[in-house]
Amino acid sequence: MTIYILDSNSELCAKYLDDNSLDSMICDMAQVLCNAHFHNPIKSGFVSCSWIPLSQKKECKWTRWIRECKANYLWLVDLLYECLMEYRYRLSGHKMYKVLCWARDNVPDLPNIVKNNTHSTISIGIKDCSNPIHHTTLPLVMPEKYLKIYPFRMINVIESYQAYYLAMLNKKIHKIDDMDVCKCSICDKAFKSKKFKWTNREIPQWLQL
Ligand SMILES: [Zn+2]
Repeated sequence: MTIYILDSNSELCAKYLDDNSLDSMICDMAQVLCNAHFHNPIKSGFVSCSWIPLSQKKECKWTRWIRECKANYLWLVDLLYECLMEYRYRLSGHKMYKVLCWARDNVPDLPNIVKNNTHSTISIGIKDCSNPIHHTTLPLVMPEKYLKIYPFRMINVIESYQAYYLAMLNKKIHKIDDMDVCKCSICDKAFKSKKFKWTNREIPQWLQL
């Protein structure tokens, strides 16, 4: 499961993703939303609209994060919506649109408040989590080796995801797992030769050499 949070603005986050990553991230987010319902089933219609829930074994930081509070769920609904709008603008409607509609209209019974943001270094006490802007700290979900290679970035979740995303694109170009954020001329050529596509969009500025 790979969810790249490339900007705190959901619209920009969607814009930055190449076509393939956008498609797979839409499916992964739909899966995480459906998983929140697996643990909090509320209404019929879930089975016909949802993905099969991940088993207990496949639970990840994202499936746990989404159940922390309602704000997290609503935040991911918003990001999925923006990604679907982006996909429609670039290519076509996406089959996950019906999952989004169902997830948006059937918010599960998750906590409205959380005591202290346990992920935050600043204690903020009890906070209202009914509003998506009050989501808890986003999890960093990437292989351990990437977390180790960019320790200086760990204070910034967005920068960490940007570095990881770039490393994943580089990896596809060089076919080796060198873990470096490469900006060589071969990478530059690959970005510009449509090996990666941002259909109807410019290549994000921060990816250009
Ligand atoms: Zn390169």
